[in-house]
Amino acid sequence: MKNILENDIMYLSGVGPSKAKLLQQELNIFTFKDLLYYFPYKYVDRSKVYQINELHKDLQYIQIKGTFIRLEEGKTLNGKRKLTGYFSDDSGIIEVLWFTNPKWLLSNLKLRKEYILFGKPSIFANRINIVHPDIEDIEKWENKISNKISPQYSLTEKTRNNNFTSKSISKLVENLIHSIEDKIEETLPPYLIENYHLLDLKNSLINLHFPKDEKTLKKAEDRIKFEELFYIQLELLKAKIIRKEKTIGFVFHKSKDKLVRECFFTKIPFQLTNAQTRVLREIRSDFESGKQTNRLIQGDVGSGKTMIAILSALIAIDNGFQTCLMAPTEILAQQHFRSVSKLLDGLDVNVSLLTGSIKKKERIKIHENLISGKLNLLIGTHALIEDKIEFQNLGLVIIDEQHRFGVEQRAKLWKKNISPPHILVMTATPIPRTLAMTLYGDLDISVIDELPPGRTPIITQHYKDNQKTRVFEFMEKQIAEGHQVYVVYPLIKESESLDYKHLEKGVEIIKDYFPSPEYEISVIHGKLKSAEKEAEMQKFINKETQIMVATTVIEVGVDVPNASLMIIESAERFGLSQLHQLRGRVGRGANQSFCILMTADNLTDTGYKRISTMVNSTDGFEISEVDLQLRGPGDMEGKQQSGFVFDLKLANLSKDGQLIQYVRNIADEILELDPNLEKPENLILINTLENLKKYKTNFREIS
Ligand code: ADP
Ligand code: MG
Repeated sequence: MKNILENDIMYLSGVGPSKAKLLQQELNIFTFKDLLYYFPYKYVDRSKVYQINELHKDLQYIQIKGTFIRLEEGKTLNGKRKLTGYFSDDSGIIEVLWFTNPKWLLSNLKLRKEYILFGKPSIFANRINIVHPDIEDIEKWENKISNKISPQYSLTEKTRNNNFTSKSISKLVENLIHSIEDKIEETLPPYLIENYHLLDLKNSLINLHFPKDEKTLKKAEDRIKFEELFYIQLELLKAKIIRKEKTIGFVFHKSKDKLVRECFFTKIPFQLTNAQTRVLREIRSDFESGKQTNRLIQGDVGSGKTMIAILSALIAIDNGFQTCLMAPTEILAQQHFRSVSKLLDGLDVNVSLLTGSIKKKERIKIHENLISGKLNLLIGTHALIEDKIEFQNLGLVIIDEQHRFGVEQRAKLWKKNISPPHILVMTATPIPRTLAMTLYGDLDISVIDELPPGRTPIITQHYKDNQKTRVFEFMEKQIAEGHQVYVVYPLIKESESLDYKHLEKGVEIIKDYFPSPEYEISVIHGKLKSAEKEAEMQKFINKETQIMVATTVIEVGVDVPNASLMIIESAERFGLSQLHQLRGRVGRGANQSFCILMTADNLTDTGYKRISTMVNSTDGFEISEVDLQLRGPGDMEGKQQSGFVFDLKLANLSKDGQLIQYVRNIADEILELDPNLEKPENLILINTLENLKKYKTNFREIS
């Protein structure tokens, strides 16, 4: 039988077709359940009563207690009727205005009777007033304890215009709760509720809409947050256990080491950092475990992830397996191909590059070599996940800068072999630990938390647009010392053509100041064909050009150690993690490097906070913490990466870090005792997970 909570909202008493339409279109409320889980966004303490002389326009909803000393009917400038009341308490008098029902009010309101008014102070002609307050008799108000914490629901312009207020929603929720109260089924097992002193589901839901008191409200919120985060962790940990138990992984033996050793002893011009060595050891132990590897390698820009990728690839190849390395952009794939080819030159390894712009003839050859097993390492872009591509025996997939790839794309790669290959994903977008726990909770995580020695921290400075000449002078000096310079312009989809104009204009100005032939400039933007981009990039790498003007295509991974200055135009338009990525393009050589952030004269508070964070910190993890606080996790790159659609009503991934850790431990303990959740007391966990997933798919279909 269909659960009553799935009923169409239209059939709730008090709704009907036209209100249903409003609820659906404006508030996304389609079913009884949607309404039940449409929680207030805040509560107003209606036990607090302000004095009239304390009021100012920045206050939200307030209450005042007093009497009307005069009521005046009148007309507005455009001829509408209005009623003005003069409301007074011990501290002063305030004007109260109504534009609807003035007649009715006039005959019903009594002078010198005590009322409570509830509303938002506003300002008109330099005077504080209140428009359309709620009015309540003092006795009634004093008796209605439950109403003292009053819920406020988020509404839209349109709902308000239809006289649909927070109170209207409260009324509907009241009807709803009356009709379904005994049908709300608990979604957590009794032992969890008991052990962790949680409020039961029914009371939590009721109290979120009609709080009994502050304390109960807090318990209700805590319970819902607990549940939301707990089930995410349970699902992630369960997936991880299943993978580890059920998926057999190819075993790569250390005894097969050959290319790895050769590369190590004859090719790598430096010593691995301790962090690199540790991460490599973690990868090795995965490879030897007989289970499929699914590991995320987190490391700040420049921490040397590519070397880890190459060595891992060689381990696979030594064991007779093929490897593919996938990068998010053509430029990056080409660069990987170049540096891998250079490093492996002289070793017995076959490497090819496959991107969208590789010619058909070569492409066919690559396909053949993949199937015959002649090709050991394939480097490329999305082109790698095309259906046509088949490997002889793909043993390892490495995904660089993984936040750029969606879950579905990754899943396609999984399927390129009968047994799933080992997977390593690399990301230079550090994220706080508790967030990683959620976004990548089903992966093992390694962190390269150390930069190679001898790097001098980049100096970052903030300049306003009107200080351009000084910036140019500085550029000139850097170039005179033999260094190269990046100038980056933002490119934001919605205003692409406008951005493009900015870039063109910028190039003109730079060319004026740095004329050819003394100076040469590379320009890269999204409108160029990829061969053209590659040619421009190559000129910069070969030092034929001193200045590279680009849009964010160069954001990820590009490695030109001689570049010592990064100038970012309109820096206020970039996100923090993007700025950090961009800055990581310099500081790759031994020289002191600089990053100059150019902005407009006036910045918003958030804009200013971002810029000053960049100026004061070079630590990717610290920067990502600030980013998370400023933006909230909703925008965090990689939100959908774990394949879990988050539909969090109360929990907040950036603020509830402690709770995430807490519920993860609880989920961990449960799975430790009952890995498949087969015990009778855990049946409820399985059922709830199923329901959540079912809801999720519905959600996906409609959105
Ligand atoms: P990222 O982690 O951003 O991908 P890369 O792998 O591109 O970083 O490495 C950045 C630079 O550091 C490269 O030029 C690389 O050759 C160099 N590098 C990597 N590991 C070390 C090391 N252990 N010692 C010195 N230099 C290193
Ligand atoms: Mg890299």
